[in-house]
Amino acid sequence: MKERKIENKAAYFRENYPFENPPKLTDVKRCIHCEEVITVGDFKVFQDNAGMEYICCPNAPVCNGTVIDWIPVKE
Ligand SMILES: [Zn+2]
Repeated sequence: MKERKIENKAAYFRENYPFENPPKLTDVKRCIHCEEVITVGDFKVFQDNAGMEYICCPNAPVCNGTVIDWIPVKE
């Protein structure tokens, strides 16, 4: 997996978010892999050898969580 630099993170996130209703880039979520509270806009993008791209935890590659591993932060 190699990291891709994303110029327009807002547009990239909107177009590649795998579910309905993408969160705002300023929202915070908890990553269930590294247990850290992350800011959505700090996401990284990694590309595998087949060219597939993944929206990854800001703590990647130390953390192998991706966007689907982010859960709401409890109040
Ligand atoms: Zn993580």
